[in-house]
Amino acid sequence: MGNAFNLGRVFGIQFRLHYTWFIIFILITTSLSWQLFPRSYPDWPWLLYWVIGIVTSLLFFTSVLAHELAHSLVGRAHGIPVRSITLFIFGGIAEMTKEAAHPGAEFKMAAAGPACSLVIGGLFALLYLLTRSTIQPIAAMALWLAYINVALAVFNLIPGFPLDGGRVFRSILWRISGNYGRSSRIAARVGQGIGYLLILGGILIMFILHDWFSGLWMVFIGWFLGNAASVSYRQVQWREVLRGFTASQAMTSDCPAVSPGATVNQLVQEYAFATGHSCFLVAEEGRLWGIVTLHNIKTVSQPDWNVTQVKEIMTPVDKLKVAYPEQDALSILEQMNESNINQMPVVSEGRVIGLIARDSLIRLLRIRSQLGM
Ligand SMILES: [Zn+2]
Repeated sequence: MGNAFNLGRVFGIQFRLHYTWFIIFILITTSLSWQLFPRSYPDWPWLLYWVIGIVTSLLFFTSVLAHELAHSLVGRAHGIPVRSITLFIFGGIAEMTKEAAHPGAEFKMAAAGPACSLVIGGLFALLYLLTRSTIQPIAAMALWLAYINVALAVFNLIPGFPLDGGRVFRSILWRISGNYGRSSRIAARVGQGIGYLLILGGILIMFILHDWFSGLWMVFIGWFLGNAASVSYRQVQWREVLRGFTASQAMTSDCPAVSPGATVNQLVQEYAFATGHSCFLVAEEGRLWGIVTLHNIKTVSQPDWNVTQVKEIMTPVDKLKVAYPEQDALSILEQMNESNINQMPVVSEGRVIGLIARDSLIRLLRIRSQLGM
């Protein structure tokens, strides 16, 4: 998800705000401060509506982050690293680098988010009960947050993939049938069905109840969910395809090798332009020193190309992740996602026999789908 601001790291996870988040933040804050609070509590001073509205809105988004963090921490406890959590217009997304290996792990990871929202909802309900006869603004805030967190948990428990409930549903099917692919297909179909139902419901709300805003919002959510269900299902299919390939089938073996002592200028003129490749092995007498990519070249300013050697800018071999010829392509893709890299040399008996790039994995998928396999 591009166009997002970094908020910082907590538990080693990057927190991000997508620019569409500001739209929903403004919508929620204004509807609280302009409509809901003034209607329910007509005698507050004007400023109080806005202060409580903004604080409530911020606490709501903190609750969404806590929900995603719950997924992430449980995921990590089951060996699934999480790179980032992003807030956007429809809520939050935790970016996992791979899928759960067992139905039990997926069940716990998926259920953790709604469980966290229910606990938060319960705590705010308690706060409401404690403050309702003493501090009215706090009670108003707590009541809305209790309601919205429970609503968040309930909505997420709808059994359509990729909602949390859809993941719970898939993990149960997976446990019963032992078939990950088929369970994913069923859960994704239900997800698409729910997307269509929401769109239909939204249209009915618009034309029968004449509530254009809520109707349109529901149509958008339905469209987003249906879309996300198809995309997630396609990813599951890709994963199944990649599982059937090994590194040696997916790698390029005609990788240009350049000597560690060559200058960056030579690399650009004699290798990059001549071969059109964007990634090179740095090797001498069959021994691998590292790899160098266009990205590394860009770190050197052009006037220094003649005085900088390839070995100074390469990623040295001890910092490289390497793949093995028999390793399946899916685990390579997961390793790339985990370390945020795009290329891995394939090593056999200490020698580099090829290079595997993210693009070549995608090319494999495309060829297979064009052949209708
Ligand atoms: Zn969730």
